[in-house]
Amino acid sequence: MSLPRPQPGILDISVYVPGASGDEPNAIKLSSNESATGPSPKAIEAYRAAAASLERYPDGSTTALRNALAAAHGLNPARIVCGAGSDELLQLIAAAYLGPGTESLFSQYGFLVYKLATLARGATPVIAPEKNLTTDVDALLAAVTDRTRVVFLANPNNPTGTYVPFSEVRRLHRGLPGHVVLVLDAAYAEYVKRNDYEAGIELVSSSHNVVMARTFSKAYGLAALRLGWAYCPEGIADVLNRIRTAFNVSAAAQAAGIAALSDQAHVDKAVEHNDKWQPWMAKQLAAIGLEVTPSVGNFLLIGFPKDKTKSAATAEAFLKSRAIYLRPMGGYGLGHTLRLTIGSEAENNAVVAALTDFLKGAR
Ligand SMILES: *Cc1c(COP(=O)(O)O)cnc(C)c1O
Repeated sequence: MSLPRPQPGILDISVYVPGASGDEPNAIKLSSNESATGPSPKAIEAYRAAAASLERYPDGSTTALRNALAAAHGLNPARIVCGAGSDELLQLIAAAYLGPGTESLFSQYGFLVYKLATLARGATPVIAPEKNLTTDVDALLAAVTDRTRVVFLANPNNPTGTYVPFSEVRRLHRGLPGHVVLVLDAAYAEYVKRNDYEAGIELVSSSHNVVMARTFSKAYGLAALRLGWAYCPEGIADVLNRIRTAFNVSAAAQAAGIAALSDQAHVDKAVEHNDKWQPWMAKQLAAIGLEVTPSVGNFLLIGFPKDKTKSAATAEAFLKSRAIYLRPMGGYGLGHTLRLTIGSEAENNAVVAALTDFLKGAR
């Protein structure tokens, strides 16, 4: 009997496992880097208003949303492409520039989607080692071959929370051949307050091979709606527009995105919340003896002892018994860690109390 056979690479993909949430009514879900402060009330209102015309197709070219993004960030709207989450945009870039016989390149603990998107196109993922859980630009440059077509760089990176200064990103760009697409995934850019950090807008504007991907899923608190965007050189925007589906962003997502952009005060609040609680959590967790990787995002990578009674897997189970959900990191080769999203004040306190009890051996 002959059976349908998928394209090469597809059966090498391990299905993406999203962060668990639990069925308990009071479950504390800190497993997907979602916003502790939720979306803007204006976005919720716009989402509800979209219910009045569900029989209509959305604007397939997302004109009003691109104009709003362009106004908010000082960009050319013709070079913005919107997607169903930045995930879709990463997949579109892979679809456009990768295929059998080609390679994508990314850092050892780089966001897992890069590998999935690469394998889905029958291309080969090439991984450059990191130093101190941080992207090493020299290692990336050393791994470039004549088959390299796309370099993915999450800055800051998920799950490590670390970032590279923009001078390093520029050095990476300078070292790449002009036909290699450099994808700057700045999903957490809103949270970063470092003088040496840039999301990448200027580099996109001044080059032909750099794309910046952004999302409404994190600081904007709209993960459920699936909304992301990419700022691209003209040629790449043209390519992505040819291969994306005609109505890839729902009307509700477009409306909510536009409303969210009109409420900068709400994003500021989300960032302020993180500025207060992320360092607080890092300090509390270090104080009880856990290893916390310095992060510039709304999440922390927490290292646990090797001792089986105190390991990450044992901690995960202990936290679950209190309906607290963190993200296990075995899929990244970081099985001794859990990733924690910064939550509300009450959630953060519950996590610290639970981990304190866990390390003391309480039941
Ligand atoms: C969360 C995240 C995204 C965004 O995903 P969406 O598809 O926009 O929800 C992209 N890149 C990284 C590194 C992320 O952590």
